[in-house]
Amino acid sequence: MRKFASLVLLLLVFCPGCSVAEPVRDTSFVMNTVLTQTYFGDEKIAAQNLQITAQLERQMSKTIEGSDIFILNKEGSCKAGADTAYVLRAALEVSDRTNGAFNPALNPIIELWGIGERESVPARAQIEARLPLTDYRTVQVDMDGTARLAKNGSVDLGGIAKGYALDKMADNTIRGGVRSALIDLGGSLAVIGTKPGGQKYKIGVRDPEGGENEYIATVELTDTFTSTSGVYEKYFIKDGVRYHHIMDPETGKPADNGLLAVMIVTGSGILSDAYSTALFVMGAQNGLAFAQQHGINALFIDNQKKITLTEGFAEKYALQLTDNSYEIV
Ligand code: AMP
Ligand code: MG
Repeated sequence: MRKFASLVLLLLVFCPGCSVAEPVRDTSFVMNTVLTQTYFGDEKIAAQNLQITAQLERQMSKTIEGSDIFILNKEGSCKAGADTAYVLRAALEVSDRTNGAFNPALNPIIELWGIGERESVPARAQIEARLPLTDYRTVQVDMDGTARLAKNGSVDLGGIAKGYALDKMADNTIRGGVRSALIDLGGSLAVIGTKPGGQKYKIGVRDPEGGENEYIATVELTDTFTSTSGVYEKYFIKDGVRYHHIMDPETGKPADNGLLAVMIVTGSGILSDAYSTALFVMGAQNGLAFAQQHGINALFIDNQKKITLTEGFAEKYALQLTDNSYEIV
């Protein structure tokens, strides 16, 4: 996605016959990923957006000492700030709606695997010992923001926090008078308005088996949010098996349903992020049914190079395949 932002920038700057001002382009590192902001407007907005996201990270990161989630995981309860309480409640609501496919209480399993840090497969007994600690229904958030966990439970908001940060950044950007912007936080994007010429932003759909800069398709978006969950983000390969970072809460192992990536387009950053993770866990068939039923636009890419879409997705977003080894089914 990073590369794509620069592609968009080039299209903006070298648009033949257009005389547009140069956009602000800002790249930074926050929430363990790259934040790229491209927009037309006041330079200060990029710094504000970075600050907003860094502040959210200080509240919701499970590794930053003193964060709400750090304290919650360590002590079993915390008085969460308004943002953390909001994200926790939203996460639990998505858990309910997805029958636990999205599960913010999965941290004991996520920690056991340590994908991105370690490259070993935990023993079945270890997984089985931890699964009972991951019931999201035991996570409580009171009216005043006090959050509580069951004994030995712990929380990870890695599947939803970036989307919330995008909601906040989009809000700040629009309030700052910006009418055209692309904000990319590690593969989740806020798309604000159109390019200055009035065209929609063209976003690349990353090749899940290719490098960071390889795309298999493009979509055209305006005034919306998109989020992609893919096996390529964090993984290791052992004995020919790819172990990636999106865990199936039922098995306590990386979701193994043939999917390589799920892209969601919807009008909320937090939901597009949470649903991209959840629908990945559900798999193409169940995920598709769920998306249709809930009015979410989703695209699934599987390991047979097949792309499945919700109704209307291709038309609505002018999906163009750029890699003909993939097939839309
Ligand atoms: P995303 O890249 O948005 O799909 O989020 C993936 C991250 O969410 C992982 O790196 C974990 O931190 C966390 N996670 C993994 N599996 C799940 C799950 N089933 N439900 C909620 N969060 C998860
Ligand atoms: Mg997500």
